[in-house]
Amino acid sequence: MDRAQDFDLATAAHAALVGRTPPSQWDERLRAAGLEQMHAAHSREADFLLKLGMVIAVLSLLIDWIAIPQHLAEVALIRLLGVIPLSLVALALPTRLLGLKKLLMAVSMTAFACSLAYASQFAPAPSNALLALGVITLLALGLPVLPFRRFEVVSFVIFYLAAVGACVWVFENEVARAEAFFPIAILATAAAGVLSHRVHWLERRDILLTLEADYRAAALEDSNEQLTALSLEDPLTGLANRRHAETVFDAHYALPSAPGQARAALLMLDLDRFKAFNDRFGHQTGDACLRAVAEAMRHTASRHGGLAARFGGEEFVILLRADDDAQALAIAEDLRVAIERIEIAHDAAGTTATCTTSIGVAVQDSADAPTLKAMLAWADAALYRAKAEGRNRCVAAG
Ligand code: GH3
Ligand code: MG
Ligand code: MG
Repeated sequence: MDRAQDFDLATAAHAALVGRTPPSQWDERLRAAGLEQMHAAHSREADFLLKLGMVIAVLSLLIDWIAIPQHLAEVALIRLLGVIPLSLVALALPTRLLGLKKLLMAVSMTAFACSLAYASQFAPAPSNALLALGVITLLALGLPVLPFRRFEVVSFVIFYLAAVGACVWVFENEVARAEAFFPIAILATAAAGVLSHRVHWLERRDILLTLEADYRAAALEDSNEQLTALSLEDPLTGLANRRHAETVFDAHYALPSAPGQARAALLMLDLDRFKAFNDRFGHQTGDACLRAVAEAMRHTASRHGGLAARFGGEEFVILLRADDDAQALAIAEDLRVAIERIEIAHDAAGTTATCTTSIGVAVQDSADAPTLKAMLAWADAALYRAKAEGRNRCVAAG
């Protein structure tokens, strides 16, 4: 993804955040990224709640032990069989089967509630009322934190209340059949439903905030990379600029040469009578010529594992390695010929512009580490001689 895309997505996330829009109205890529995060978060949340549910199922047997000790064994069997195996299977499911994980979680929670409704038929008053209330509390507490989305919340509530209602009817629980039971259940469910809506909005907000921050960070990182590249590159030709060449020289060429190792070499180019070229063909053609020369230099540099740089105006440098003056001169001569052959089309129909270059060549003269300053001075002196001797030629320093 590029910087503009990241920036657009950050803006889309911000708009969704401010406008509180549902995911169905989000930018398609934002929705895909948001759903991926939501899936992972829901899976983690489901696993946590499944473990908590198993702990509560075991601990709740304490209540049965106090309220209905004579029925503890059968209630424990029903509760644990209803909750533990389903929860363990759900826990083992991977994130991509999140739908099934959530379904098993809904069923195990309903089984828990049904086992409470079942137990309440044996309990004397008022413990039977407390157990019946536990069924409602379970739903009211669970609904806001369950990782269910809108239609899932509604389906779960219908399923849960239908199952609990059936238990109440089958087990003939007098408290659960009291007139106040279902109004309380419905009110508690409605309040829990509103809370659940709120919690889901907060969850969505959290995801949007994270995505916005992530996209902004990515866009910024991209900008920084581009800025770094720009600070090392000459904008007209795309070659390295002087600063970049200096860094590369210090890192790779300012080293003592080992016996048998090629030495640091520097070619300094200055186009011949380029002012006159501009006057004759125009500045734009001059720029096109500089780009073509840069291309030829790039080719030479890459063939010899070196670096081509524009030092300013129509002055260029190539850093490379050569065994001796003769080899460096031969490379410079090939480049001079390649530049001489460049033809630039220009406005006047049918004619092409050509240019030539003079090249000064400097090669590391001892085993000691060379400095760029010294190499530039030698190459410059050689270049001066090339100009003085008639231009369009290569001259080695020394
Ligand atoms: P010499 O053979 O002695 O080098 O003659 P010259 O005319 O090339 O002299 P010099 O190197 O001093 O001239 C530099 C000219 O290069 C002057 C300027 O018009 C031209 N030049 C410098 N930068 C640019 C550029 O970015 N684009 C274009 N088109 N021309 C440039
Ligand atoms: Mg010049
Ligand atoms: Mg010149």
